[in-house]
Amino acid sequence: VHAKSDEEAAAKVAAAYADSGGPTIFDKIISKEIPSTIIYEDEKVLAFRDINPQAPVHVLVIPKLRDGLTQLGKAEPRHEDILGHLFYAAKIVAEKEGILDGFRVVINNGPTACQSVYHLHLHVLGGRQLKWPPG
Ligand code: 5GP
Repeated sequence: VHAKSDEEAAAKVAAAYADSGGPTIFDKIISKEIPSTIIYEDEKVLAFRDINPQAPVHVLVIPKLRDGLTQLGKAEPRHEDILGHLFYAAKIVAEKEGILDGFRVVINNGPTACQSVYHLHLHVLGGRQLKWPPG
């Protein structure tokens, strides 16, 4: 029981630290300071290949302006337009990558879900038979 509460306390500290609102690696990808393979881009979103792909197609779709969206759990009514835009961009990515017949869109939210970059991003995964449930 004690160990579990220690673990929970540590997870809370990690979560607070992780979602500090500071800059992330994605800022440098948006500014193109760090190169990436861009699949789709418009004025609001950028879609680029994940550096550590978990499927033959693994593309991240991110808002260019984070505007407080470090994670989906921070969404506010003002974010409705960009959230819709991100999902539509995910469909465009799936179409461009030829996986419209079967693909998965994932958002890892917070430390318990293994979120590692605190700038909202949709994972678009496909190109192989995907399994359910995910890990
Ligand atoms: P999360 O774990 O937060 O859901 O997803 C973050 C994703 O960003 C990971 O899948 C990770 O491989 C990817 N990533 C982290 N750093 C970079 C980078 O510098 N370039 C690219 N293309 N992807 C990255």
